[in-house]
Amino acid sequence: MSGEAAGPTVRRLADWSAADLTELADEYGTPLYVTDLDRVRENARRLLDAFPDAAVSYAVKAHTGRAVLATVRDAGLGAECASAGEVVRAIDAGYDAVQYTAVNPPAEDLDIVLDRWRSGVDLTVVAGARDTIDRLRDRGFDGRLALRVNPGVGAGHHEKVTTGGHAKFGVPYDRAPELLAGARADFDVVGIHAHAGSGISGDDLAAHRELVARMGDLAREVGDLEFVDVGGGFGVPYREDEPPLDLDAVADATREALGDVDAQLAVEPGRYLVADAGVLLTRVNTVKPVDGGDTDGTVPVVAGVDAGMTTLLRPAMYDAYHAIRNLTDERPERPVTVAGPVCETSDLFCERRPMPTPRRGDLLAIGNAGAYGYEMASTYNSRPRPAEVVCEASPTPRGAGGERRSPGNRTRSGNGGIDAVRLARERETLAHVTDLEVDR
Ligand code: PLP
Repeated sequence: MSGEAAGPTVRRLADWSAADLTELADEYGTPLYVTDLDRVRENARRLLDAFPDAAVSYAVKAHTGRAVLATVRDAGLGAECASAGEVVRAIDAGYDAVQYTAVNPPAEDLDIVLDRWRSGVDLTVVAGARDTIDRLRDRGFDGRLALRVNPGVGAGHHEKVTTGGHAKFGVPYDRAPELLAGARADFDVVGIHAHAGSGISGDDLAAHRELVARMGDLAREVGDLEFVDVGGGFGVPYREDEPPLDLDAVADATREALGDVDAQLAVEPGRYLVADAGVLLTRVNTVKPVDGGDTDGTVPVVAGVDAGMTTLLRPAMYDAYHAIRNLTDERPERPVTVAGPVCETSDLFCERRPMPTPRRGDLLAIGNAGAYGYEMASTYNSRPRPAEVVCEASPTPRGAGGERRSPGNRTRSGNGGIDAVRLARERETLAHVTDLEVDR
């Protein structure tokens, strides 16, 4: 490991400076995403250290903000993209080589991506169906092609992100040799690819190992490949008492399971790069006792906040746990349900979780919001999407895709806190939500 630059194995919500976050909320309003680019760099460093011989790409779907893309690119990772939009944003952020994992790709996506390829972008397309290969051939693509294989093995923190065994993804394992052989005539066949699911933990290592071993077997069977991509899915500890993933152990298990192959190992984590680099700030706007009684007593209360499932979808969609911290005051604990303003029962961040009694106006921080946070935000209930600020101790000069510091940028320092801060994404307004309506 290269020590300091790789940082601690996890950043907990308690490690963020309450004073600095409060200042940001006061200045930029809430709900507000805060992303620490230094932490993104540390996470990238740890991945590169753990997988020194592998090709490491960032699954950009976890957070496609331009500052994050540029930071990960500067750290030396490639980009793995799931749509034409992601491909274009990665190219705009300065990535030289882009991998496009085509999942049931709409025609427009294929057209846009192949236009970029024709204009000279170093592109690898990962196809997950014979039909997709045919559509690429029909469009005149004869470039770098990898085959997404369904290894019949899945892993993940929730059934909705366990992709490995689902028929939606990839071609059946047993059909892969024949499809690869057929594709070699028309394409530069460079690799095989599989992704088990998201949220691989120490417990799930067996499934990961099995997937990798199957991919190793396939690579030896078909031969003549540049890479074997075993996907992403490296988990992060969402609960405060959950231990961090032992990345070196995952890397060792991966290499061991892959065995001796004449091809480079490739991995494409998303969450691991950004999850603990982000928090969501939200303000309490309503407090009410659950079963009647007094909000100053000990009965459970519902704290209504100004962020909701439209801001951070993971709790509603995956029953995901996110740590929540009251930044305003340390008060006696009671069971608290933190609920958003969306008219849906599932619009909850937690239910009856012990935490300091909230009061109207309190500022709450929701941890591990950097991955699949803003990306999954929506405007349901006509709620404009939130703003995002990024911070870093020492902003690096940016190339084509980077963000520049403007006169409005602020610098804070010290106390393990937040340093140079800049607005990365403006808060949407209702006008953004209604802008495309034609029948006004
Ligand atoms: N690769 C593929 C093909 C994926 O579908 C995903 C996530 O859905 C990832 C990589 C990244 O997964 P994670 O963010 O869990 O690392």
